[in-house]
Amino acid sequence: MPMTAPPLEVLPDPHLLVGDERISTSSGGWHEHRYAATGTATRRVPLAGDAEIDAAVRAARAAAPAWAALPRDNRRRLLLAVAELIRTNADELTTTTVIENATPVSLAAHSPHLTADLFEYNAGWADKIGGTVEATWPVPAFDYTVEEPYGVIGVIIPWNGPLASIGMVVAPALAAGNCVVLKPPELAPWTSLRFGELLLEAGIPPGVVSVVPGGPSAGEALTSHPGIDKLHFTGSGATARRVLAGAQQNLTPVCLELGGKSANLIFADADLPAAVQQAVGGIVQLAGQTCLSGTRVIAEDSVYDAVVDMAVDILSQLTVGDPFDADTHMGPVVSAAAADRIMSMIERARTECRVVMGGERMSGEFAAGYYIPPTVLADVDNDSYIAQNEVFGPVLALLRFSDAAEAVRLANDTPYGLAAYVWGKDLQHTHRVVAELAAGNVWVNGFFGIPPSVPFGGVKASGYGRTGGREGIREFTRPKNVWIAL
Ligand code: NAD
Repeated sequence: MPMTAPPLEVLPDPHLLVGDERISTSSGGWHEHRYAATGTATRRVPLAGDAEIDAAVRAARAAAPAWAALPRDNRRRLLLAVAELIRTNADELTTTTVIENATPVSLAAHSPHLTADLFEYNAGWADKIGGTVEATWPVPAFDYTVEEPYGVIGVIIPWNGPLASIGMVVAPALAAGNCVVLKPPELAPWTSLRFGELLLEAGIPPGVVSVVPGGPSAGEALTSHPGIDKLHFTGSGATARRVLAGAQQNLTPVCLELGGKSANLIFADADLPAAVQQAVGGIVQLAGQTCLSGTRVIAEDSVYDAVVDMAVDILSQLTVGDPFDADTHMGPVVSAAAADRIMSMIERARTECRVVMGGERMSGEFAAGYYIPPTVLADVDNDSYIAQNEVFGPVLALLRFSDAAEAVRLANDTPYGLAAYVWGKDLQHTHRVVAELAAGNVWVNGFFGIPPSVPFGGVKASGYGRTGGREGIREFTRPKNVWIAL
């Protein structure tokens, strides 16, 4: 069956949104966006250069005082209107997501609703951020602390889930009273641009959010801009180091949401089918290109072989294919460069472990796209390259342990600390294991996504700061203390 041709008419016209101006030429050059399932060009994207980043920051600074001073209930209502528009336009946003990064449509269809949920949740904070009255001594005084917005937040997001990133980061930033300069990557600019249009349609004042797609030079212009009060970066550790180098020029505070190599611990008493189903889901969902996937499966000796067999069995029954086909479970990876990088990691792993499934580029009707099949690597040594580095592709590494101490040691023995998963029926034991894990988020005996109300983020090389919940709102406010003599 030939691949479905992407309906390009849903894409917004290529532009940058600065204030309420749609700019269709730009000083940063152009990027030819490609549909990953076929490798064919979609549209050329204008890339922000220094001038457009500067204009967006200026627009945000001009809009910031009025946005911060807006009565809280108005801000709440505006954010709820954004959520409503996202839901009304969910079908179009879903199609745009499929074109943008080849997320299979069955998965992409959840994305707009997840983002709308996040806007609704954060709208609820807009009229609840207050402060505290403090105790003081030795003289009588009235002392209070009030949580204020920073002003202008520079938000840099990755290509793997722009809508989700927007919900997790832009929604709380706005709810807390900040303006945002949003820089989506050139690889996936379309949903962010459409989102910018929806914001204006919802009545969010011009300049409160500008959308300036771009590559590294746009990122550098944003991170080093003196008009940015805080940076929120989601992406890889390598880029994070460059973000910090830009931020140090103005001592701009930074929140970092980075990658992972998350452990998935399966104890012998676990519900094995459920555990393995969830573990393989980590490499199937968006072809393993999600930060929190538990791609390092560490199973107890006595069930190890059964886990390997079950993983292969489940993955053999899944459909890899056309992202627009509702029955497709897994699509391609995002780009030719990503496919080459992942294949080189698999080639290197071949000498270090056993490839029990996959491991070759897909051919035939898939050859023009960037397809890599689900790949299962067994007998992986935790010191090996494949165990220590994020693949960001459909590759599951299976390791074994003989007791809980070894399980915890292996789980923690990577530079990362984003998520961890634990499977086992003895909850007392499971709690003891969870307490030992170096990870920002731990899921026990199941995974149903991240509710908007919980904090999400990493430790160690997976970053710092949190998105989501009360902590996610706190990232975007700073305390001011006031002491008044009585
Ligand atoms: P990336 O680091 O290559 O790019 C991320 C963003 O940084 C893009 O917008 C890119 O254009 C921009 N950028 C590139 N060079 C820059 C520079 N010099 N200065 C400033 N910005 C620059 O990451 P990616 O390939 O887009 O995304 C994959 C990575 O993101 C993975 O490591 C993944 O685990 C991580 N990720 C983390 C989370 C999380 O919440 N923890 C969520 C999604 C993805």
